[in-house]
Amino acid sequence: MKILLSEEQLRQGVEQLAREITEHYGHRPVTIIGILTGSVVLLADLIRQLDMPLRVGVIQARSYRGDTTTPGPLSVHADLLPEVADCDVLLVDDIFDSGQTLQRITGQLNALGPRSVRSVVLLRKARSRETAIEPDHVAFEIPDEFVVGFGLDYHDAYRNLPYLAVLEEAELD
Ligand code: 5GP
Ligand code: MG
Repeated sequence: MKILLSEEQLRQGVEQLAREITEHYGHRPVTIIGILTGSVVLLADLIRQLDMPLRVGVIQARSYRGDTTTPGPLSVHADLLPEVADCDVLLVDDIFDSGQTLQRITGQLNALGPRSVRSVVLLRKARSRETAIEPDHVAFEIPDEFVVGFGLDYHDAYRNLPYLAVLEEAELD
């Protein structure tokens, strides 16, 4: 596997995100919502860099990828979502690809009466998209390739890699 971002680069990227988020919210309380499952590593690293009062919740999104690395229909499960009415909500996701996950979840949350909804992603792929929204904070722009590690999986594997790697054609089964 080709390493795209090292542990050290990722650490610096998360620090940069934490600085931007702190600059935006100051000491205001924030409700942080991680989008399962890919965001768990970023979520854990990021919240430990933040010192405003915060709550952590989760929502689940799945784009069924079947045997390929191409996304299919998106399903969202909000059963574990905490109360967000009148809260400043910050959505955390691993990667912004087509944008449909963040667009759908932002829309769903906005219907619940939050004070604000913003978003942070570790990665944004260089590609064209039809969605109207963009994440507010992005640590790294990456080429349009399928990546794994630091929370991102291929068939549920590789999430535990401490670095980000490109999964090459030969490794896709
Ligand atoms: P979007 O809805 O923006 O197209 O895709 C977001 C979701 O698709 C991410 O949360 C992630 O789960 C998955 N995804 C998109 N690109 C990649 C990738 O390169 N590698 C992996 N492992 N997942 C990806
Ligand atoms: Mg995901």
